[in-house]
Amino acid sequence: MGTGLRLLTVHAHADDETLTMGATLALLADQGVATCLVTCTDGELATVYAADMVEEEVRPRLGEIRRDELRAAATALGVTELHFLGYHDSGMAGADTNQAPHAFWRADLEEVTGRLVERIRAFRPQVVVTYDAYGGYGHPDHIQAHRGTVLAIEAAARPGMFAQAGEPWRVSKLYYTAFPLSLIRKAVAMAEAAGLPPPFGEQAPEEMEGIVPDEVVTTRVEARAGSARRRQALLAHHSQIAMDFPLVAMPEEVMAEHFSTDHYELAWSRVPTTIPEADLFAGVR
Ligand SMILES: [Zn+2]
Repeated sequence: MGTGLRLLTVHAHADDETLTMGATLALLADQGVATCLVTCTDGELATVYAADMVEEEVRPRLGEIRRDELRAAATALGVTELHFLGYHDSGMAGADTNQAPHAFWRADLEEVTGRLVERIRAFRPQVVVTYDAYGGYGHPDHIQAHRGTVLAIEAAARPGMFAQAGEPWRVSKLYYTAFPLSLIRKAVAMAEAAGLPPPFGEQAPEEMEGIVPDEVVTTRVEARAGSARRRQALLAHHSQIAMDFPLVAMPEEVMAEHFSTDHYELAWSRVPTTIPEADLFAGVR
């Protein structure tokens, strides 16, 4: 299925791709769109949630375990190419680990940019997706992924920059993943109506990190066809999953019916498009 359409997405840790845009990736695979997932860190500082994993046993090889989990998730989502940049997890904002010598947060930005330029020039995506400038919710590795990606897109188009990293390529559209306030409010209201505890704790949706006003959203991708594969990918991230997590505990029919639209903010487009959009390739197809 050679549509010639290609999407590259840059994420900080294994599972970010599934949580932010898993259903979209599966849908794009159905449409014959080639997808390239670049994951910057090995995520070795993540909390281990799996009930059958023992922290002390798993911790020393968590990076390796998460690579395997991501490979399985990417297969479930029909991702065409998966690349690991292999940086070290920086830990949550403010943690001492942010300053560790090999933390992604401390990585040389020019080096990160050069490696992403190489990926962009090799894959030649029309569309790139990453996080907004706050990294979605302030995680240092997400912010670093954003920085590297926006710089790499600009550099990739210029023949004089990173000349050893391949032939220049100009990306047509850049998107940021987004969780709008209305989506969180809906989840909270549905849980309340069903007599369940608040899915994200007692915090008011307006106060939660990583939530954007609905006005920011430019693009809603209805990806119901990809919902079941998103669940499969989510379960593949075994170390990161407890079975009582709202996204796992919620029956698949409910997820598919109510939570299978992925949201994006169009940062810019070099092709004409009309907002609101329902397709990341609007103006490109
Ligand atoms: Zn992450």
